[in-house]
Amino acid sequence: MSDPMQPAPEPSPSAVRFPDHVRRIVGATIVPEPGIQLDDAEIAFHTGTGVIDYLGPVRGPARPEDLDARGRIVAPGLVNGHTHSSMTMLRGWCDDLPLDLWLAQMRRFEVRMTAADIRAGLRLAMVEMLRSGTIGFVDMFSWNTELLGDVVDSGMRVRASPGVFGYGAVAFPMAEPEAGGVVLDEVPALAAEFAGEARITMDYGLHAPYTCPPDLIADVARRAIDRDLGVQIHLSETRREVAQSLTDHGMSPIAHVAGLGLFDTRLHVAHAVHPEPGDIDLLARPNVTVSHNPVSNLKLGAGIAPVPEYLAAGVTLGLGTDSVASNNTLDMFEEIKTGALVQRGLHTDPLALSAPAVLSMATRGGARSLSQGLSGRLAVGEQADLIVLDASGITASPNGDAGSFLGYAARGTDVTDVVIAGRQVVADRVVLTVDEEAARLDVRERVTRVRGELDAR
Ligand SMILES: [Zn+2]
Repeated sequence: MSDPMQPAPEPSPSAVRFPDHVRRIVGATIVPEPGIQLDDAEIAFHTGTGVIDYLGPVRGPARPEDLDARGRIVAPGLVNGHTHSSMTMLRGWCDDLPLDLWLAQMRRFEVRMTAADIRAGLRLAMVEMLRSGTIGFVDMFSWNTELLGDVVDSGMRVRASPGVFGYGAVAFPMAEPEAGGVVLDEVPALAAEFAGEARITMDYGLHAPYTCPPDLIADVARRAIDRDLGVQIHLSETRREVAQSLTDHGMSPIAHVAGLGLFDTRLHVAHAVHPEPGDIDLLARPNVTVSHNPVSNLKLGAGIAPVPEYLAAGVTLGLGTDSVASNNTLDMFEEIKTGALVQRGLHTDPLALSAPAVLSMATRGGARSLSQGLSGRLAVGEQADLIVLDASGITASPNGDAGSFLGYAARGTDVTDVVIAGRQVVADRVVLTVDEEAARLDVRERVTRVRGELDAR
């Protein structure tokens, strides 16, 4: 019997027992949020609820069911703040054209896509995103029960919007499109159908103010407020778009849609490259999130968004790839590095924007953009949305500063494991929830068919 006057001895690490529902990642360098680093640390989570229940020093050796992550880095999962995932079908299709000709070529291809093509494109995109450390994405394309079901099965998170041009047209055409008016009616039905799925958020999708008439934009704003749904839209991507809006409406695209009620909704804006005076105050509203898409903006020659001004004004910024047609990958690590460097070149100032600030956009800003109550940080009580990276390679050597590696040297291919809501979806660089080989072969065959149809014309 122990002496009640003596303090109980500390249990030896090997004596610590963990319940079966606890999964541990042991011995890693953990970056719970940009700017903080815990060496030789452990993170543990409940596999049922997906909630992190421990973060701190290693509590004992890894069990067989745990992940021994010595020599690896654990970071919050990345969120792609703006993409059109099914457009993996169009990767490398017309890389070097002026924007208007590029858009025309995109539409030539898209009108030949079938519902099955769109599904195949989404599957390939999810494989690419998961393999490169993306745990969720904000997406505008064609969305239905089948596609959302595929996201549920993949384990990923999505804030999805079916894009429309008008009551008669959808933004991303396919061989058998539904009318835009029908699509608008389907959004609340899909939201209700997936209301029990914490990883699915449904939005209305308006392509852009230069494609959507004002009455449609005002109608969607009313519908969104009435049904407590969000809206996604592309705004102020190019100087030409802004100039046209000033001519047509006497105000910027951002002020124009604000006047139609859109900034009173839970709004997610893509691009905002060219704000006019007054626009930044609208973008900084607490109900608004903005996706900065530096690689797409550079590839299409759209320009460079004023990110330091946005951050100073309190705009909630996420980071996105846009579609692979204007990128050509879904690797968020490319966005992080490019996003930091392009501001430094633009301002000729190495302090214009730090990589931790851009990493924060891809994690915390992305989490806010998903609209699923996530923080984008690794902390007790938060969802276990995390990625594990190999830090034994040349580009991580010497690897004393994990933040430096994540911001400037890491590639999506360094990601070895991905956990979303406590479920492991990538293990040792293998996606567990989507068949990668089948997804690649399927898209290759479908692209051969579409390009054959285009060549035959
Ligand atoms: Zn876009």
